[in-house]
Amino acid sequence: MSQKYRIVIVGGGVAGLALASRLGDRMGKSGQAEITLVDKSFAHVWKPMLHCFAAGTAQNENDRISFMSQASRHHFEFWPGEITALDRGSKTLTLAPVLATDGSEVLGERTVHYDAVVLSIGSRANDFRTPGVAEHCLFIDNLVEANGFNEKFRMALLRAYADNEELNISIVGGGATGTQLAAELHKALDLVSLYSFGQKPPKLKVTLLEAGPRILPAFPESVSEAATKQLEALDVTVQVNAMVSGADEHGFILKDGSRVEASLRVWAAGVKAPDVTTRFGGLTLTRSGQIEVRPTLQTVEDDAIFAMGDCAFISEAPVAPTAQAARQQAHHLARQIPGWITASRPLQPFAFHNKGAIVALGSYNGWGTFSGGTVFGGGWLRGLSARLGHLALYRQHQFEIYGPWRGFVSCVVDWLDNFVRPSVRLD
Ligand SMILES: Cc1cc2nc3c(=O)[nH]c(=O)nc-3n(C[C@H](O)[C@H](O)[C@H](O)COP(=O)(O)OP(=O)(O)OC[C@H]3O[C@@H](n4cnc5c(N)ncnc54)[C@H](O)[C@@H]3O)c2cc1C
Repeated sequence: MSQKYRIVIVGGGVAGLALASRLGDRMGKSGQAEITLVDKSFAHVWKPMLHCFAAGTAQNENDRISFMSQASRHHFEFWPGEITALDRGSKTLTLAPVLATDGSEVLGERTVHYDAVVLSIGSRANDFRTPGVAEHCLFIDNLVEANGFNEKFRMALLRAYADNEELNISIVGGGATGTQLAAELHKALDLVSLYSFGQKPPKLKVTLLEAGPRILPAFPESVSEAATKQLEALDVTVQVNAMVSGADEHGFILKDGSRVEASLRVWAAGVKAPDVTTRFGGLTLTRSGQIEVRPTLQTVEDDAIFAMGDCAFISEAPVAPTAQAARQQAHHLARQIPGWITASRPLQPFAFHNKGAIVALGSYNGWGTFSGGTVFGGGWLRGLSARLGHLALYRQHQFEIYGPWRGFVSCVVDWLDNFVRPSVRLD
């Protein structure tokens, strides 16, 4: 049994993988601490790409980063497993058994000891227990769900092609996820039609339902208006002030009693932490299950438990759950934790530096805002700067995780891939 100080990071997403890699390089390599990453998956996926995987406009073979490979290059240990409980008394985490695809047990339930633990298990859409949603809607909160949606989308498209019928898809949630997905589905159909042997593509009818008065509420009103116009030009129906009160196998029921029929129904509204946070030793949680932390990102009741990214809520200075905030929090802890452990240096508070936001509607348009609120994008270049900016964020992430050389090679591989594979997922 190792006697080294053990830091366990749970969740290898935007925040967790960046932290594990940095702490591994800084403390794992020199033997100052043992860094362990735990994730319920075997590979990291950059979550802001999920709507592209769902539509099939990005191929996730190239975009997955193996945790084991990253661990071996950055001096940390990786264990697959879903956290099911945390015991603050014994400083242990419980990991669920790992099952093979046929259901047989590969690894039994395990207990992992920690001296300090960082929880970064992300978030998922919040259906607010709306009746019928869990049973009749699809979610795109992780790669399995995004791929699951893509399978259904491709099959529904095939049927619509064969029967020459309209394909109806409704998306609940006019935030970045729902809005970008609506455009990406049209882009997918445009690309599929290049491979359809001259057969007329079916009509795709996407309806975007938003409970609030405008889509993209995190952006200035001018962006919401321009995005609505762009979506309508693509024949997407944008319904605002549309409060969904239920779902069934044929569509959504709105609070005013009206119905929106849809053969595929996607729920992309709201944000909540995974339900497991209620089994974390009585840590203070918000109403949406996020773990309340102090500005040092330590939990309110336990100095040895940190939380960051979407699953954390800094009660004194809340930040929106974005990849930008998750990444900055990981960088902050990577700077703070080594001195705290090796020299008992006090932890400095996290300060968020808003660098703006970007939204890309497929290859049709895009907008961004700088931190001061200035809007760029749109116009006759169809938001080229914003669309390139959106892509640049992904490349920046790849370079950070892979390092400059492998990051560059990965870009070249993606580019070469365009010559070999179809530009949309067809199988
Ligand atoms: C479609 C879509 C588009 C988005 N676009 C943008 C954008 O353009 N810009 C932006 O800033 N943000 C965007 N976001 C939000 C952004 O993706 C998140 O804010 C960000 O990923 C949060 O990072 P995280 O590390 O907290 O969680 P995640 O990146 O979600 O990582 C969580 C990790 O925890 C693991 N995990 C979960 N539960 C468990 C468990 N019980 N046990 C073990 N492991 C577990 C998961 O497998 C995952 O690897 C988008 C989100 C979506 C869904």
